[in-house]
Amino acid sequence: MPNETTTTESTTGDAAPLTLDDKLYLVKFKVDEGNPHIKIDEAKCAECKEHFCVRCCPAGCYTVEDGKVKISVDGCMECGTCSIACESNAIEWKYPRGGFGVTFTNG
Ligand code: SF4
Repeated sequence: MPNETTTTESTTGDAAPLTLDDKLYLVKFKVDEGNPHIKIDEAKCAECKEHFCVRCCPAGCYTVEDGKVKISVDGCMECGTCSIACESNAIEWKYPRGGFGVTFTNG
């Protein structure tokens, strides 16, 4: 849905279209360095060939490098989709500690 647009009221009162990329740019994160809220069990992950997590994450947090799934939680929107989509139950998911994680600045 990268071309999906909506409108929102700008500070000048004009309606301005926002793309999904525009909206993602407005989301803020506070990273809990060394304490990621999502971890991948590599043994379980190795059993999976589908990598639904890579395809379903709206923030593009998952990548495949040298055949292994990698995650960068920096842009995670805490939707939980990846933990539900993983058929191998390889994703350990919890909310970030208080004060860390995503902040939606525009609702
Ligand atoms: Fe992506 Fe949502 Fe999983 Fe975060 S919780 S990594 S945004 S699918």
